[in-house]
Amino acid sequence: MLKIPRPIYDSLRLHGEETYPHECCGVLLGHFEGDGSKTITSISRAGNTRDDSPHNRYNIDPKELIRIQREGRARGEDIVGFYHSHPDHPAEWSSTDLAEAHWIGCSYVITSVEKGKAALTNSFELTGTDEDNKKFVDETAAVV
Ligand SMILES: [Zn+2]
Repeated sequence: MLKIPRPIYDSLRLHGEETYPHECCGVLLGHFEGDGSKTITSISRAGNTRDDSPHNRYNIDPKELIRIQREGRARGEDIVGFYHSHPDHPAEWSSTDLAEAHWIGCSYVITSVEKGKAALTNSFELTGTDEDNKKFVDETAAVV
């Protein structure tokens, strides 16, 4: 389970509306709890480096990701996941999303943005032990 405070939930959905018709992306920071759930305590918006196809691809600059990770650690936060939007496409992961997901144990949150308005927001946990057997599993996203 992924626990998302209401203001953060609203903020990541708004991000998708702001960048429409392009994809938005960002990083989820927080804590891995002892019971296997994750709690988000902040998010960091990231620039989408995919200028070639920003409407259906997203990528976070590795240097930006390292900076976000370092700043999170300074606040006692870990990277617990990532979010991005699907402009005029369902809130389901694509084969590209799976191929480009590498953080096993982390959550991947996808918001569908239909005609500029945020619709469904779904979360998927990347499970497995390595690149060969990784897969996405539906995960409950609880707005708390
Ligand atoms: Zn996607």
